Amino acid sequence: MTKSNRRKTKQIVVGGLPVGGGAPVAVQSMTKTKTEDVKSTVAQIRLLEGAGCELVRVAVPHKKALRAIAAIKEQITIPLIADIHFSSAFAIGALENGADCVRINPGNLGGIEEFDNVASKAISLGKAIRIGVNSGSLEEDIARKENMPQSDKFVESALRYVEAADRLGLKNVKVSLKGFDVTATIEAYRKFALVNDTPLHIGITEAGDEFSGAIRSAVGLGILLGEGIGDTMRVSLTAQPEKEIEAAWEILRSLAIRRRGIEIVSCPTCGRCEADVRGIASRLKQEVRTVRAPLRIAVMGCEVNGPGEAASADAGVALDRKGGGSLFIKGEKVRKLAPDNLLDELCAAVLKLAKHVE
Ligand code: SF4
Repeated sequence: MTKSNRRKTKQIVVGGLPVGGGAPVAVQSMTKTKTEDVKSTVAQIRLLEGAGCELVRVAVPHKKALRAIAAIKEQITIPLIADIHFSSAFAIGALENGADCVRINPGNLGGIEEFDNVASKAISLGKAIRIGVNSGSLEEDIARKENMPQSDKFVESALRYVEAADRLGLKNVKVSLKGFDVTATIEAYRKFALVNDTPLHIGITEAGDEFSGAIRSAVGLGILLGEGIGDTMRVSLTAQPEKEIEAAWEILRSLAIRRRGIEIVSCPTCGRCEADVRGIASRLKQEVRTVRAPLRIAVMGCEVNGPGEAASADAGVALDRKGGGSLFIKGEKVRKLAPDNLLDELCAAVLKLAKHVE
């Protein structure tokens, strides 16, 4: 996606972070802890932030979680979104307790009047609302419509609430239209984007485990981002929370939308390979996981394509038959690495390079 084909949306502000209107696509996640366990929730938010998370959502299913919001907010720096279902009173309480944004579900909030109450509170506190349509909980009158494609149902539900927000003068609104069905979700976002310029939070809901979930999300979000659609994004995974962030950045990097941290280019290996490419690449990834500088590092299994790929990356190694390799930095072959300290030397070279960039 180039800047020119990015969908033009209104810019809103969520806890100080600009969203939409040309702001960078922001990476979002959701904690998997019990929200009322403030210590664990804050620790997980910090872990996510360290991995590159820029907005975080917490579940607020009961009063204990609602009460915890103030203490969580005090201890974190990224914008906090409260996930609310079934209760406008909880949404209002979450905003009063310090949440920067509430995600409400049109399918279970209780109707437009309840939304109006939440929106009025958001306006008075200068906060934001995400209208989060979900395939699993569409409003009954819309869900019942026969012969209406699911994507149209998503859009109709979202527009109903966007219009209510407009009527009240609430500016800080974003929309999500998430389903498990990737094609219906893509269609819904496309259709919404054609008729409305509210910023969009994109995601594939209940995507799956680390492998299938990442692929489903990469396909769905990749298509949308490639078409310029999406202002914030979440990769939902049944996995360690930081994996969601890793996958989100990988998607952004693949489309050259944003870069952050180390991108490891490694060859798939073949019958020509005599080296432990997989082991070296995975240990390198672990060692440099906290680096923020956007660098491409190549780990290649032989001297056929190895030198070319290593030379075109920021740094790289072309492994040889004896377990050693040639180290390349910024296109130059700088030295041979011995098998015994290859990984240490490669890591040291990457960290040194990162210091120059950061
Ligand atoms: S770089 Fe060498 S080992 Fe790796 S896939 Fe290519 S030919 Fe095979």
